[in-house]
Amino acid sequence: MKKIKIFFSLLILSLGMFYFFWLSPKYTVPILMYHNIGYEEGSFYVAPENFAKQMEYIKNKGYEVITLDELVQGIKNNKSFKRNKVVITFDDGYRDNFQYAYPVLKKFGFPATIFIISDFVGKSFGNGKEFLNWDQIILMSKDDISFGAHTKTHFNLGSRVDEPVAQEEIMGSKNAIEEKIKLPVEYFCYPSGGFNEKTKEMIKQAGFKGACSTNRGFAKFNRDEYELKRIKVTNSDMTKPFSFYAKLSGFYTIFKRNRDPY
Ligand SMILES: [Zn+2]
Repeated sequence: MKKIKIFFSLLILSLGMFYFFWLSPKYTVPILMYHNIGYEEGSFYVAPENFAKQMEYIKNKGYEVITLDELVQGIKNNKSFKRNKVVITFDDGYRDNFQYAYPVLKKFGFPATIFIISDFVGKSFGNGKEFLNWDQIILMSKDDISFGAHTKTHFNLGSRVDEPVAQEEIMGSKNAIEEKIKLPVEYFCYPSGGFNEKTKEMIKQAGFKGACSTNRGFAKFNRDEYELKRIKVTNSDMTKPFSFYAKLSGFYTIFKRNRDPY
């Protein structure tokens, strides 16, 4: 009996030490990544009902949605965040974000960032690839939705890129969005998560305060605001037990394999 007591005391002590010394310092505020909110098939789609359920979960479980800017300012100042924060982002600027995501975000008062491909604004390529138009973007920018740049044509900035082309893709998108929304565009998102040391430097030189990747790059714990890792939310996250909970925990990226950025 005594031996069992000692065993369990040691077990609890080791688990406690594991948490405080190993796991806890690795906490990172989760940055959720969405693409389409709609009914088509495919891993980039979250059905509108499931998106609404996910937002409701965030609200009901007491998480606080902060802006990407609040997070980046905190990273720069070495701030330790309370463990209930979450950031919401959308890539590419699909028109369904206006139809299905915006009303839900507005209802809950959640801020979010949408990264737009400036040359694709207002265009439609079929297969659900319909993009927001400037009226919708301007309307949302007057609310809690901020807009970031995602190049002019979804240009991959990884591997060996031609510098003048990359420069035009980066600055061209920033300038085009700023001119329309009359607000500074302070954040960037690497298309397909691709970047290299040179293009990362170009993003800094362009005056962006930070940049999001996917799971590319090996800086795992978001201490570098120019290669922020994000967590892809999927349509099945509310049906698989603990899936969405794990993604919101702040420890999800530790166990996820990172990919080469180039
Ligand atoms: Zn994209």
